[in-house]
Amino acid sequence: MTESVLSARKVRKRFRLREGEVLALKGLDLDVRENEFICIVGPSGCGKSTFLRMAAGLEPVSEGEILYRGQPVKTPRREVGMVFQEYSLLPWRTVEDNVALGLEFAGTGREERRKVAREYLELVDLAAFARAMPHELSGGMRQRVAIARALANRPDVLLMDEPFGALDAHTRILLQRELLRIWQHHKTTILFVTHGVDEAVYLADRVVVMSARPGTVRAVVPVDIPRPRHRGDPEYARLTASILEMLDS
Ligand code: ADP
Ligand code: MG
Repeated sequence: MTESVLSARKVRKRFRLREGEVLALKGLDLDVRENEFICIVGPSGCGKSTFLRMAAGLEPVSEGEILYRGQPVKTPRREVGMVFQEYSLLPWRTVEDNVALGLEFAGTGREERRKVAREYLELVDLAAFARAMPHELSGGMRQRVAIARALANRPDVLLMDEPFGALDAHTRILLQRELLRIWQHHKTTILFVTHGVDEAVYLADRVVVMSARPGTVRAVVPVDIPRPRHRGDPEYARLTASILEMLDS
């Protein structure tokens, strides 16, 4: 049994509001193993983003704990990267300087930053756009820059919150394929939130199905279909339908 990269133990999250409180998560348990690709699906408002933010150290848990390689997560750390749904690029910086942002915070020298940024832009096939500004890129390209930026910090775990949610269907499929290629090449561990069951079955080793709020893990569905997966495959269709049914009941 290999060590978990991330684990959640009986995680509860309460938000205090003026008119009382909201219980967002109640007792979420999850173990993410080395090099795994985990997708989380669940009804809107069930606490998926909240869980990811807590795993990233951006938000405290109310009860229970989240561990990164055995240590409680308290603050953001370089080993745990995050990609959000909105293109969180800085509009006044070039693509290359956006990718180098984390390296700059870490005190990496200018030449090295440039080299690493170019390397990751190459990886997401955007080397030609290094000097472009974010507004000159399409949505899909900007999201590839956001992925390059997260990868440039060489994270051990990548948390992704509906990163392809705002893209058109064709671009989304291209980026799913690209993300799998990067994941296989870099051997990272990915925790990916999506509301697309089809997307989850395409990407994941295991799909975590959450209940409605207060969120908890309802089922963990292994996807034992060899990659590259084909959406016309009967097993693909069967798994997708069974997860959709769980979400619907
Ligand atoms: P999901 O990403 O699954 O759609 P969220 O994690 O964004 O869900 O939200 C889960 C629940 O927690 C929702 O009911 C939401 O309104 C509530 N919530 C999230 N963030 C906050 C906050 N900062 N303050 C108060 N309530 C919040
Ligand atoms: Mg969300």
